[in-house]
Amino acid sequence: MSNVPEIFGSMVFSEAVMQARLPHATYKEVVHAIHHDKRLTPEIATVVATAMKNWAVEKGATHFTHWFQPMTGVTAEKHDSFIHPTGDGLAIMEFSGKELVQGEPDASSFPSGGLRATFEARGYTAWDPTSYAFVKDGVLYIPTAFVSYTGEALDKKTPLLRSMQALNKQAIRILRLFGDTASESVRATAGAEQEYFLVDKSVYDRRKDLIYTGRTLFGARPPKGQEMEDHYFGAIKPRVAAFMKELNDELWKLGVVAKTEHNEVAPAQHELAPLFSTVNIAADHNQLTMELMRTIAKRHGMECLLHEKPFAGVNGSGKHNNWSMATDTGENLLEPGDTPAENAQFLLFLCAVLKAVNEYQDLLRISVATAGNDHRLGANEAPPAILSVYVGDELEGVLNAIMNDEAYSSAGKEPFKVGVSVLPRFPKDSTDRNRTSSFAFTGNKFEFRMPGSAQSISEANIVLNTAVAEELRRFADRLEAADDFDAELHDLIRETVKENMRIVFNGNGYDESWVVEAERRGLLNLRTTPEALPYYLHEKNIRLFEGNKVFTETEMRARYEIMQENYAKTIRIEAMTTSDMVRKDILPAVSAYGGMLAKTLTAKKALPGVDTSYEEAALKRLSELTAMTSKAADTLDEAIMQSNDITACEELSNFCRDKIFATMSELRICVDEMETITSAKYWPYPTYGEMLFSVR
Ligand code: ADP
Ligand code: MG
Repeated sequence: MSNVPEIFGSMVFSEAVMQARLPHATYKEVVHAIHHDKRLTPEIATVVATAMKNWAVEKGATHFTHWFQPMTGVTAEKHDSFIHPTGDGLAIMEFSGKELVQGEPDASSFPSGGLRATFEARGYTAWDPTSYAFVKDGVLYIPTAFVSYTGEALDKKTPLLRSMQALNKQAIRILRLFGDTASESVRATAGAEQEYFLVDKSVYDRRKDLIYTGRTLFGARPPKGQEMEDHYFGAIKPRVAAFMKELNDELWKLGVVAKTEHNEVAPAQHELAPLFSTVNIAADHNQLTMELMRTIAKRHGMECLLHEKPFAGVNGSGKHNNWSMATDTGENLLEPGDTPAENAQFLLFLCAVLKAVNEYQDLLRISVATAGNDHRLGANEAPPAILSVYVGDELEGVLNAIMNDEAYSSAGKEPFKVGVSVLPRFPKDSTDRNRTSSFAFTGNKFEFRMPGSAQSISEANIVLNTAVAEELRRFADRLEAADDFDAELHDLIRETVKENMRIVFNGNGYDESWVVEAERRGLLNLRTTPEALPYYLHEKNIRLFEGNKVFTETEMRARYEIMQENYAKTIRIEAMTTSDMVRKDILPAVSAYGGMLAKTLTAKKALPGVDTSYEEAALKRLSELTAMTSKAADTLDEAIMQSNDITACEELSNFCRDKIFATMSELRICVDEMETITSAKYWPYPTYGEMLFSVR
């Protein structure tokens, strides 16, 4: 057994370490800066840098890196050693305040959406003191934000931090109205449940599609899939258990509170949930979790698949983003209170979320729009592509009572009055029943279930924080100007519920009838990434981000291009892999098998009275299929060529979806049928059965 208290956070330059190692006055200033979004002076930075370096060297570090999150979706790092030659053939370990606070990686090769011409390659990384530095593999990691020479965000952390500031500002205004003078800050909190698959390295290495694209582009249904539902919460296999143990140990050392782990619905699918934390730390920790899952799986002879849909026909992987807001005094703002006054405050924050989700459905949908996640949203196991909020029957009853000025059944006969009437208790369990909702209230937080397993959670949280900040801003403007606070509050909540009730849906989100009902309600149903992305630049969305100082319009236009490009690039890589596999492996293998069948057929035909129906039928069907496949491969190659000439980004992603992806899907049907007819000896790849049951 690992000694958890001893290893937990042992590789983190945490507040406790700072307290022990920094002069008291310096420590106080750093903590104040962390909690109040303040900058540190160069003098303080120098003291911190030296303490940090000494601590890191004791932990075995020889290098440091500014760790950042460019628009690629993965993290980036460049290692510099602490070594400074002293001129006498010797060297000392040094780390300056300037090196801590700011870095200057060559930014030219990171996506910038045209923000930074390649000749103006300078980009800066800036220390984020609110996310602790840590030592991993002999390197001191300093979490940083990445911005261009002119200050534009080139990463996912910068806007996340800005959105947290926007939310903090507006939430505090609201708290003051309710007489809270003690809270100094409000932080968004998040806990990201991470789903993933594990397959044996031996099968992974033989699948070019997994290697190049992260998902299987072909594969016939296995004899056994997830239909028995015997994997969900099933006993964890020893090999997987060993992996999970090492993963937990490594995460704990880095201060990531990995809390629960279990088998998921599909064979070979698992989940890890951490304890929640402040959202920028949660985002950093989730990136670390994904990275460690990959490297530790390899040490156990396995590969970790983080793609949203590695296998057709079995569940895909998501990343449920649990979200709430908390004060620095420890109050969860989405926790219903015990008194009518506390409940009024809870209802107001709840209303802000309802309104934010209703008004910014498009942005929330876009925050989870990737080529990989398109396979999942709307498919059978995931929430549909439609945003709706599940609140549970009790809370819906309360909202209805408020909206109609009626009594709420279990709370007396008087009309429900905000700030006066008592809310019923919401038992936590009764709120988590609906697994089909895209955005569910689960007792004291919301669970956004649309994010894809491979995505950074920053995107979703930037939208959530900003949209809720915007609604709180409007609420605060109105309430601050009111003569009678209680009356105004009651009216505000009532109106908000009324205007936004269309987003509330407690039914089955997987049901076909919901699609029809949602359309009747005027809710958006943006099925694919190319369909969703153009909404990003709508006037109201630009106003939202500019108004809350999260993105400038220029930054938004750049991001828009990057999202479009990412989609098109992903589809094109998949298409080229498809073509390669079909031409180099699949068609030659099936043709060789056909040749063998033909030889047998000729030999058998020479024997009078011998039945050759199997050989004839198989040969006939395989010949038809190889002809169809080869033709589709030609169409695919041609489409890939054509796509090279399309420059407008919308046109390119639409083309990728309608021509390239559509042809890949046709091709796959032929190939999967061929797999069912071809001898296993000839088939060039491990089958679905072999992959899904490869870890035993
Ligand atoms: P419960 O069973 O109580 O609903 P879970 O164990 O399902 O909670 O929690 C799921 C995830 O939600 C976990 O990652 C957890 O840390 C996170 N979570 C719990 N409370 C909050 C909160 N206030 N803000 C953000 N995430 C939270
Ligand atoms: Mg949950």
